[in-house]
Amino acid sequence: MRSLITGGAGFIGSHLAEQLIARGDDVFILDDLSTGSVENIRHLKSSSRFHYVFDSLQNRHLLAELVDESEVVFHLAAAVGVRLIVESPVRTIETNVNGTQMVLEAASKKKKLVFTASTSEVYGKSDKIPFREDSDLVLGPTTKGRWSYAASKALDEFLALSYWKEKKLPVIVARFFNTVGPRQTGRYGMVLPNFVAQALGGPAITIFGSGQQSRCFCDVQDCVQAILRLVDSDLAVGEVVNIGSNQEVTIEALAQMVKQRTASSSPITYVPYDEAYEPGFEDMLRRVPSLEKLQRITGGRPMTPLHSIVDRVVAYFRNKNAGTVVETERPLPVLVPANTEAEAGGTVAL
Ligand code: UDP
Repeated sequence: MRSLITGGAGFIGSHLAEQLIARGDDVFILDDLSTGSVENIRHLKSSSRFHYVFDSLQNRHLLAELVDESEVVFHLAAAVGVRLIVESPVRTIETNVNGTQMVLEAASKKKKLVFTASTSEVYGKSDKIPFREDSDLVLGPTTKGRWSYAASKALDEFLALSYWKEKKLPVIVARFFNTVGPRQTGRYGMVLPNFVAQALGGPAITIFGSGQQSRCFCDVQDCVQAILRLVDSDLAVGEVVNIGSNQEVTIEALAQMVKQRTASSSPITYVPYDEAYEPGFEDMLRRVPSLEKLQRITGGRPMTPLHSIVDRVVAYFRNKNAGTVVETERPLPVLVPANTEAEAGGTVAL
């Protein structure tokens, strides 16, 4: 299969490119390197199956050509990271909305399958745990910058689903829940790379708010496996599907786990949200996906335990700090069938 990955030099995109190449596919990536990095794909450049272009989605002719060459388009290019969103809301909205519109328009000419990445942010402040794909979205006011990300991604979803309904363009919308792993940067505010860098280099591991807010962290390789299975299934077309883990952990427990597993002497400190982001910042208290639909369509769901993910991220940072380039991928498959003992999910034991 020949695929195009927009945002292919990003964190998730580079792992997806790697696994597509490993299974014998040809991969084109298009990335403007705004948040992606050459480092993420350096090890793929020697493959004859790997083709990359550093340019913007705004280059319509190039986009059209790359879409024409491909059977599937993975649209992962987006402005991500809460810090980036709070600091650059215009860029967030324009990148997310215009980019998706251009990809869908280009793909619709020859009805190429589009897998488009959305986010668990769209559920907003909903307290109906677990979040099901057909649940209501509960967003805060437009005066609070954080919600622009959720709103822009919700609009992307509407647009993708409309292309399916009105123009019969096959689309799959996936909502990613806190995907983590090697190559993720802390630059845009993501918690795990920040905690690991702080644990290894100090001065302090910074918890924003009380630390009682919780998340479910999904290993990037599990996420990629879920993506690949979704595009292989006719049942996924025209659907919105959560991709994540349902092992819930508080941010305070995550900080303790990182500190313990790195044997770090960095103290854990608490920073008020107003200081960490902006005055009046609203966080989500809990975010847990329902994985029923993913399980039904793909026959599996992400289940890598959090401590294994943390260990791989720690190893990645240690190698990076030492200037060693080491491949951190582990053997596949990583999606695990249901009805195992971890099926019920729950809080991760430390
Ligand atoms: N967070 C934190 N310290 C950091 C970065 C983030 O305590 O250095 C918190 C953040 O406020 C949020 C959680 O960790 O409650 C997850 O943040 P992230 O940006 O990784 O993802 P989100 O779930 O907010 O999209």
